[in-house]
Order: sequence, then structure tokens, then C-alpha cells
Amino acid sequence: MNLVLLGAPGAGKGTQAEKISERYGLVHISTGDIFRENIKKETEIGLLAKSYIDRGELVPDEVTCAIVKDRLRWKDCKNGFILDGFPRNLFQAERLNVFGHIDGVINIEIDPKLLMDRLLGRRVCEKCGANYHISLLGGKTVCEKCGGTLIQRKDDNPETVAARLKVYEAQTAPLTEYYGNKKGILMTFQSTEEPPEALFREIAAALDGKFKK
Ligand code: AMP
Repeated sequence: MNLVLLGAPGAGKGTQAEKISERYGLVHISTGDIFRENIKKETEIGLLAKSYIDRGELVPDEVTCAIVKDRLRWKDCKNGFILDGFPRNLFQAERLNVFGHIDGVINIEIDPKLLMDRLLGRRVCEKCGANYHISLLGGKTVCEKCGGTLIQRKDDNPETVAARLKVYEAQTAPLTEYYGNKKGILMTFQSTEEPPEALFREIAAALDGKFKK
């Protein structure tokens, strides 16, 4: 089963992708994580990506598509993958059609009023990338999964978040129509203030119904 996860920044894609990947044994491919890893290691891709990410803009399509195309060739993707943060515009979606096969698209909708709080309150593990919200951490500063330090992403600041949301509206939101026109692959869910497990139960029920053997 090969899936794409769509949704605004802060909709909870990363958290849901982790859960889906765990339950269905899919490789979780997050282009944002790949870029952040490259930035940490100061690779050529990292240096290039950093300037775009810091401004809340998209990293150029050619670079991003080449990374995903290469990653999907790895053997571990044979049993299925979930793409989190790719495609982010129509160009990338068209390219993905050429180098990958997609069985389902999970679209997470969210009230825009919830997004700022989610993004500004988000803390991520420096080591494994797990996501938390500061309101639920009770003062904890280390990751409960791996013990890594929890930090705030550099692009989770009010100015960059505003830019990212604009980019989402202009470039990524049209993908719901794009995939909606491909018969039967789009599944839309609402992200609310409920704990992420509630949304995951809905997503898992839909996936079980759709892809049961
Ligand atoms: P994310 O972790 O998905 O929120 O991505 C963080 C940042 O990485 C985005 O704001 C973009 O600058 C960049 N990025 C991630 N995925 C893509 C993509 N598919 N195309 C272009 N830029 C991306």
C-alpha cells in the first residue's frame, strides 16, 4: 500500500504518518525530515534547502523530486510507503505519477484557527523527529521514545509559519482537487482538538475498509 498524506502545516501529518507507518509496516518518507537531516549534516542539499525552509518557501521542485524519486527506489519501499509532505504542488504530483504508484491519498483538514497554536507550541525530538505539543509535556524536555532533547523547529515562528500557510493555500491545497479527480483514492478527515489517537482510529478504519485483503 503506497500512500500520500496531504494537509496544512500543523494539521498533524507527521504524527499520523508515524502511526500509519507503524501499524501497516510502511516506510515513512518525510521530505521535511530529509531536508532537516541534510541541514544538520551540512550537506550540499542541506545548505541549499536551508535558505528556502527558513523563509517558509518550497525547496525547488527539481531537487525535491530527485530526492523522492531516489528514495522510492530503495528496497524497503517494496512493501509500501507513506509520503508525508510530498507532493506539495501540482508539478510534484505530476512527477510522482511518473516515478511512483499511489493507492490512496489521506487528506487531513483542520480549522485554520487551530494551526498557529499547534505550530508555535510544537516541540520536536532533535534525535528521532517525534512531535509533541508543549501543553501536553508537563515541563518535560526529553523525548519519551528515545530520550533525545526536545526543541522548537526554527521555522515554527510566527513569520515563517505565516509564509508556510500562504504557500500551502496557493500551491498545496489545489492537490485535493487534483487527487479528488482520480477516482476513489482521496480520503478526507478532520483534525480537531481531540487527541491524535481519535483521528488515527478514523484513518485506520478507512484504510482497513479500503485495502483489506
Ligand atoms: P515540513 O516538515 O513538511 O513542514 O517541511 C518543512 C519545510 O521543508 C517546508 O516548509 C519546505 O520549505 C520544505 N519542504 C518539505 N517538503 C517539501 C516539498 N515536497 N517541496 C518543497 N519543499 C519542501
